[in-house]
Amino acid sequence: MAELLSGKVVAAAIRTELAARITQLGFAPRLALLRVGEHPDDLAYIRSIERQCAALGIETEHFALPLGSTTGELLRAADAINIRRDLHGCLLLRPLPEQIDEAAVCDALAPEKDIDGMSSRSLGALFVGDRTAFAPCTAQACIELLDYYHLPIAGLHAVVLGRSLVVGRPLGQLLLQRDATVTVCHSETRDLAALCRGADLLISAVGQPGLVNAGYLRAGQIVLDVGTTMQGDRLLGDVNAADAEALVRAWSPVPGGVGAVTTAVLLRNLVTAAERAVKRR
Ligand code: NAP
Repeated sequence: MAELLSGKVVAAAIRTELAARITQLGFAPRLALLRVGEHPDDLAYIRSIERQCAALGIETEHFALPLGSTTGELLRAADAINIRRDLHGCLLLRPLPEQIDEAAVCDALAPEKDIDGMSSRSLGALFVGDRTAFAPCTAQACIELLDYYHLPIAGLHAVVLGRSLVVGRPLGQLLLQRDATVTVCHSETRDLAALCRGADLLISAVGQPGLVNAGYLRAGQIVLDVGTTMQGDRLLGDVNAADAEALVRAWSPVPGGVGAVTTAVLLRNLVTAAERAVKRR
């Protein structure tokens, strides 16, 4: 039976660390939540973040623009956030509507407030190993899970399914920085099952429930499931739970795995941004 890597446990440990750092700061860090429209997924995510912020004494401020907003309006909102010294970080809810140049909006955020590592500057910094920039939170959350459970990364063959700028590609870089040998797979990858079976560490960020089944797994592997797909009222991961439990050494499920850690990492980045703002004064 596989060891369960619980994201809830890791997130709780991060929140405990944050409570102490916020007390040390002596003021409430403030998070800007920038969104366009009223998409139910965005609103649910914001409610969950607000609950966690309230529990830690972090303040939130909404920048809610109408669905038909233009790129120019989003850029002005980003500027307004950038110049506010009392706002320490910004979460931009994505994806943005099609008419908006999402990359331009991400790039308009001041690097020190880009706590989700979305801008090309933050991603470039990750690529060259500059650790002062924030890495995308979900990618970082995978590393946090492995570290918390003292699972070594160096020397492993890590196979990442998915190459998005949000998860797969930055995660590949983070794993490389930690001396893994990394294979990043995508929809055109051939012999995916064989590649996955060859992995010591397998991380799936695709969004296809059940994609990773017994044919992709073997004994001794560590498996992280990042994929999330709503089917009715159920949240499903990419990994077949019964197969992972029966076959591998350790795995993180959906729900209760990487997703739980992602928000904790975001809030930790916010607190780090607030600490750096104090030092710059
Ligand atoms: P995305 O932008 O849609 O990327 C999906 C990736 O999967 C693409 O690179 C795609 O390849 C690849 N892919 C598609 N079919 C594949 C297949 N059969 N075999 C191998 N690769 C395949 O999605 P994303 O934003 O990276 O998110 C991925 C998943 O993670 C989603 O389910 C999302 O909901 C979830 N997620 C979870 C969290 C969290 O905190 N837990 C955060 C972010 C995302 P191509 O590049 O060739 O199209």
